[in-house]
Amino acid sequence: MKKKERILTGDRPTGKLHLGHYVGSIANRVELQETYEEYILIADVQALTTNFDHPERLAQDIREVTMDNIACGVDPEISTIFLQSMIPEITELTIYFSMFTSIASLQRNPTIKQEIKALGLSDNVMYGFLGYPVSQAADITIFKANLVPVGEDQLPIIEQTREIVRKFNRMYQEVLIEPKAQVGVVGRLVGTDGLNKMSKSLGNVIYLSDGPDEISCRVSGMFTDPTKIRLNDKGHPDKCPVYIYHRGFNKNEAEVPQIKKDCLAGRLGCVECKKRLSGGLNEFLGPIREKRKKLEAHPKKIDDILIEGTKKARGIAVDTIKSVRAAMKINYFSG
Ligand code: ATP
Ligand code: MG
Repeated sequence: MKKKERILTGDRPTGKLHLGHYVGSIANRVELQETYEEYILIADVQALTTNFDHPERLAQDIREVTMDNIACGVDPEISTIFLQSMIPEITELTIYFSMFTSIASLQRNPTIKQEIKALGLSDNVMYGFLGYPVSQAADITIFKANLVPVGEDQLPIIEQTREIVRKFNRMYQEVLIEPKAQVGVVGRLVGTDGLNKMSKSLGNVIYLSDGPDEISCRVSGMFTDPTKIRLNDKGHPDKCPVYIYHRGFNKNEAEVPQIKKDCLAGRLGCVECKKRLSGGLNEFLGPIREKRKKLEAHPKKIDDILIEGTKKARGIAVDTIKSVRAAMKINYFSG
């Protein structure tokens, strides 16, 4: 039997996951976990690039993110979920990569540029933040991953990983694999503000764990097509976040095209359309929420999944770092 190709993907534990994470990356993970050997990294060190002043939050957030993944259908019996900070070989590889990655190439990286702007960091960019594409390159390559399911915002980071791999392999020896990115069904889900990427820090999110009341509240506050003011004004559904969410999450297949037709014709008001979206989202998130509740009742099980997953992942990292050191001829006392 042909050996399965490997996937490395992950999330920063900076809070609960939202619909953007689901369509950008998690849905792909769930779909691909049978075909690939899948590794899901909980990037707690990377979370410190922006949350260094609140490291005490990580203990809870690593568990939240793990539960969100499993509630969405990631099966810990098939996929390996593990913690970044407990694999010191990743840190070691990050340092080696940082020796030949120029500061200019990091400053030019479009994702970094965009995030510096969005977070208002400008003059206050930390060394670790600027270098996170290097640590992400180490995360991916230490597992010799072939494929990385990510949201669109991450594409320049994967491109930088590929450059680092090419440079390493050319300079030392061909030991690392150049990974490919795979963008989810919706590469970039717009937030409830209808303007920016759905993102925790912008407060324009619907969390996977939101209950019916929270969903209704967030949906009723959503921005809609600004040219549709009265009920019978004709709308532009393809530009309206409410319709974009209907398309992405409303499982009622007959209702979605009808909403589009009625909106275009000026027969459907935004209030009614939002009410139906709350219903649709509630139906979509209901089973995820139920599963999550069951997981929350067994915290020890979540910890065991992380401990076991980390043990397994570390085995691979140890092997790769050995060949990295050999390739760099710094394996002084072996061979
Ligand atoms: P937030 O901005 O809410 O803090 P994040 O971008 O920091 O989230 P990450 O852990 O960096 O979250 O991202 C995990 C995965 O989810 C990445 O592959 C990222 O591309 C994807 N993702 C995050 N937000 C969105 C979105 N709005 N649309 C599509 N994909 C997204
Ligand atoms: Mg991100």
